[in-house]
Amino acid sequence: MEPINKFISAKNHPAAKKIDPAQIRQQVLAEPAVSQFISAHQNKITDEMIDKSMSALFEFYLFQQNKKDPVTQGFKPKLILNTNAIDITYVPEDSKIEHDREVSARKNLRLIDLPTSLHDVKLSQVEITPERKQAMADIGQFLSAYSKNIHQKGLFLSGSFGVGKTFILAGLANSLAMMNKRVVFMHLPNFIAGLSSHFNDNSLPEEVQRISNCDVLILDDIGAENLSQWSRDEVLAVILQSRMDNQLPTFFSSNFSMNDLEEHFKETKNAIDPVKAARLMERVRTLAKEVVVSGPNRRR
Ligand code: ADP
Ligand code: MG
Repeated sequence: MEPINKFISAKNHPAAKKIDPAQIRQQVLAEPAVSQFISAHQNKITDEMIDKSMSALFEFYLFQQNKKDPVTQGFKPKLILNTNAIDITYVPEDSKIEHDREVSARKNLRLIDLPTSLHDVKLSQVEITPERKQAMADIGQFLSAYSKNIHQKGLFLSGSFGVGKTFILAGLANSLAMMNKRVVFMHLPNFIAGLSSHFNDNSLPEEVQRISNCDVLILDDIGAENLSQWSRDEVLAVILQSRMDNQLPTFFSSNFSMNDLEEHFKETKNAIDPVKAARLMERVRTLAKEVVVSGPNRRR
């Protein structure tokens, strides 16, 4: 019984004042989680082992009595059976596992020119209205196929302003980030408008490469950007070509249908180029399947 005395006085537990080892032993063994563990392994646990393991059992018992120990916050004790003693180990609580996953998911999802609040959108928050049913079904199908094979076609969510396209894609992005995939979710119009910020330090080629190489790329609001010939042919087309060559999933949202988007691509600031537009659209069509999302405008 020596170890228990030591343990108690070391911890300065109130029980230390009126210690009666036999009584403590009885209390510890009466703790439901302890007795459950012992009966689950009853053919392997002897009385002698219990005596030898009393300090571990007592620590476990104390934890059950007072779960709010700041040192072990986020962890819970677990009894384990060693060759001839019972031992205690600490495992993350489910909420801690969940929390750690969310922290790493945050790192996996890179938002470019989009509000950081999109980090917190979950697919489960997306209300499934009849107008969104197809998109949500396709996303579910994508996720299940993607977990088996990363070379999957993405989706092109087309629909008017405010129906929830960005919100749905944010839910998807976070689910993928939770699966430990590196996701880039970018607002294409702002990204195109801000391209010149890369000129000074010549960082554009690297940025284009990072965007091209991520596991899943999501381009939000394609069609609302102001393209120059250069940004269409040297930036957007390059990214899409690379996604196609490597068969990496790419998603889009747009206020345009695919057919209308082709018209938008024809016209750049100082030229009309149907051939280039058709080639660009060909890439979009190869990368993604069009799904219409409709419904009321949710923006106030
Ligand atoms: P879109 O990208 O189609 O223009 P958004 O995704 O930006 O539309 O949605 C418009 C607004 O409605 C946003 O403020 C968004 O947070 C909100 N919203 C969209 N879908 C939902 C939903 N299922 N639950 C709560 N808010 C939503
Ligand atoms: Mg949007």
